[in-house]
Amino acid sequence: QIEVSSFLLCRNGLLTLSVIAVVTGCTLGFMLRGTELSTQAKIYFSFPGELLMRMLKMLILPLITSSLMSGLSSMESKACCRMGVLTVTYYLWTTFIAVVVGIVLVLIIKPGTGTEMESNRLGGGPVMTSADALLDLIRNMVPSNLIEATFQQYKTDLIPILRVPTKTIQPNFVYVVPDDNDPKGRTVYLELTPPPDVIYKTSPGSSQQMNVLGIVIFSATMGLLLGRMGERGAPLVNVCQCINECVMKIINAAVWYFPFGIIFLVAGKILDMQDPSTLGKKLGWYGITVLTGLFVHGLVLLPLFYFLLTRKNPFSYIRGLLQAMVIALATSSSSATLPITMKCLLENCHVDRQIARFVLPVGATINMDGTALYEAVAAIFIAQVNDYELDLGQLVTISITATAASIGAAGIPQAGLVTMVIVLTSVGLPPDDITLIVAIDWILDRFRTMINVLGDALAAGIIAHLCRKDFPLSETGKVKNRRWI
Ligand code: ASP
Repeated sequence: QIEVSSFLLCRNGLLTLSVIAVVTGCTLGFMLRGTELSTQAKIYFSFPGELLMRMLKMLILPLITSSLMSGLSSMESKACCRMGVLTVTYYLWTTFIAVVVGIVLVLIIKPGTGTEMESNRLGGGPVMTSADALLDLIRNMVPSNLIEATFQQYKTDLIPILRVPTKTIQPNFVYVVPDDNDPKGRTVYLELTPPPDVIYKTSPGSSQQMNVLGIVIFSATMGLLLGRMGERGAPLVNVCQCINECVMKIINAAVWYFPFGIIFLVAGKILDMQDPSTLGKKLGWYGITVLTGLFVHGLVLLPLFYFLLTRKNPFSYIRGLLQAMVIALATSSSSATLPITMKCLLENCHVDRQIARFVLPVGATINMDGTALYEAVAAIFIAQVNDYELDLGQLVTISITATAASIGAAGIPQAGLVTMVIVLTSVGLPPDDITLIVAIDWILDRFRTMINVLGDALAAGIIAHLCRKDFPLSETGKVKNRRWI
């Protein structure tokens, strides 16, 4: 008994339990697929998983605001500026490299050539153009109402961006039924009786979650100003530090629930999954191309950058992040994984707290290497399905818009699927063809989220190394952060 409890109390025990939970969830999900569960039964069955997601989401807001405000307030302006510039440059660079990897692979493998798959043109539904998307991104940086930015929003007045056949509707999106009498249409959530032929899907990125980018920008500005205020700013800085420590303590307690929640989260998703035998060969090759790209980028290139820039073993660093990667796999959300990534970085990778508190929240909002890679592959795959020859200029356009679209994507499940409209419209491809790849998107989403999380965490290690003169204690391994409980 003593052995069992000491196993459970060590960090590897928790990781092992989480991995076992993913495997058990998959097995359970596949076993139950044969049984006819009612919608109500599925809701009850998925409830423990839903609770896990809610717990993680609950922590995002206090964690981001308190991390950025307390982290930046205690830094010198020069050090802060250097760290900010390095972080953003590194993020843009690695995202661009991810896109290039994706483009090279999809051009070599050519998953979309051949005749088995038909383009899915539904005809001219309203779409969001690249300019609209850029404006939306800038709009989100400057929230008009800070309180509203923290809400989960269900806006029906967004531009409907995608026409989809009703048979492909998914629970995570907001759908709008066109209504001639009301220019905004009618918002529907799940079941429609009678189902209309066509509905519009609005972006879940901007419609179903809080405006994290706006909150990051505001908190970072507050943090910088608080630092300049000296004594007068100290009370608020103390409050932020207390909130931050409390959040970390909540995370340490909540992680013991995670393996249980993961089982039902994963099993619930598998229950809803489309029958894999109906997916065509092309879609299979498309999936293999994305997964190969993610593997090359996440387990070869990013570790190589880490090694070249820090001269340390990237894989022992990545070992400390496994818990966060399992959670990313289970939740498909880099924002929801943020609390666990922070915990792994502080406790296992020993990255300085000031650096982690800045680099991680910013990364979870703007750095999505996996998403960028997938967007480039998907756009070129759709071009191949349409027999549409892309010239060099269009490939360059795809690389730039895929980078921008990943920055605009929120860290929530399948956000990248919708911001991909920007990439498609930029080179004249039909946005409706997104429906060609929807069937396997939920699984690819899990793997690209893992790479998104990995990219943020490796960046924190690299920035800590590069800024070691500004933060004498910051170099990985030199200082051991306390365990929080
Ligand atoms: N689910 C991804 C994330 O949270 C975003 C996406 O690619 O859809 O990082």
